[in-house]
Amino acid sequence: MEIDFTPINFSENLGEFKRSLKQFFSNSPSQKVVLLCDTNTLENCYTKIADLPFLKEAEIIEVEPGEASKNIEIANHIWENLLELDFTKADIIINLGGGMICDLGGFVASTFKRGMRFIHIPTTYLAMVDASIGGKQGINLLNTKNQVGVINAQEATFICPDFLDTLPQREIISGLAETIKHGLIGNSEIWQKAEENLTNLTGLDLIKKSIEVKQHIVNLDPYEKGERKKLNFGHTIGHALENVDGNGLLHGEAVAHGMLVEAFISWQKEFLSELEFNKIKALIISNYGNPTLEIESISKLIIKDKKNLSEKINFTLLHSIGSSSIDNNLDLDEVKELLDKFNRLL
Ligand code: ADP
Ligand code: ZN
Repeated sequence: MEIDFTPINFSENLGEFKRSLKQFFSNSPSQKVVLLCDTNTLENCYTKIADLPFLKEAEIIEVEPGEASKNIEIANHIWENLLELDFTKADIIINLGGGMICDLGGFVASTFKRGMRFIHIPTTYLAMVDASIGGKQGINLLNTKNQVGVINAQEATFICPDFLDTLPQREIISGLAETIKHGLIGNSEIWQKAEENLTNLTGLDLIKKSIEVKQHIVNLDPYEKGERKKLNFGHTIGHALENVDGNGLLHGEAVAHGMLVEAFISWQKEFLSELEFNKIKALIISNYGNPTLEIESISKLIIKDKKNLSEKINFTLLHSIGSSSIDNNLDLDEVKELLDKFNRLL
């Protein structure tokens, strides 16, 4: 089945953004609106657009910030609210927030009455270039991320970098890791801009280029049968690092370290040159610090990775900066040896 992931609307500034959103609502049939946000996006983002006419009438549903809100109890609370408010399939949910809000709201909307309308307004860098693109909507289960969900395209995504003005710097740097990933797997120009200066990536131009890499891949393979696995680069190790107790890493920080380790594996398997590996190492360490790899805890976590077939660990590896290949399957023992070698290198 074809999915249309194309409608992404870009605005340079809030004025333009508000005009586009207003246009979208004036073109669409009259409907009830729910705006889903968390405490931070209510305070920092909703207030920037609250004067839009269709928002004056909107119901606001606010949840606690943080990944812990992406669960079935909260989803249920939102479904019940929608039912009590007599929402139908023709009504619309606006997801105003980071990845947590977009994933949760997208899941709730995709399942309520077997699918109602929804749009994403991502307010974190990570959500702009990743979570709000490509139609993955879902919630966590037993503290494991994204275990229940659907692939279902939002009606539109509205991107405006002005929302980043209030986002803590640590969240921005973390999100940039996904754009660095897009550069590494598919666009060396993005990588060069990152090498020049990481803050280049926060401009609308580079946000667009980053999204183009992801859009191109998800359009080829929306259901992750092949090509879409490229987007998992850095995530096999990254997810494990994110889930090691007490690590305290944000998603993008863990992915940055994961990319360094997986670039190391790419070099060791003689796909990637030592020169390019060293460039990647320099950029990641200077912006995200040195990774610490506890081999035993990481091994336990990667073996549970939902992408693996049988006992092999599935990696996307780099061939050069800007080009990658999927389905490189390594034995756990070999992975452990490589992790050990990596620890000795740093
Ligand atoms: P991510 O987008 O990285 O997946 P979250 O949705 O959990 O993660 O957002 C990260 C944090 O940033 C949350 O505490 C959220 O409330 C907050 N946040 C999101 N957007 C903004 C913003 N534009 N300004 C300030 N804080 C924000
Ligand atoms: Zn990611």
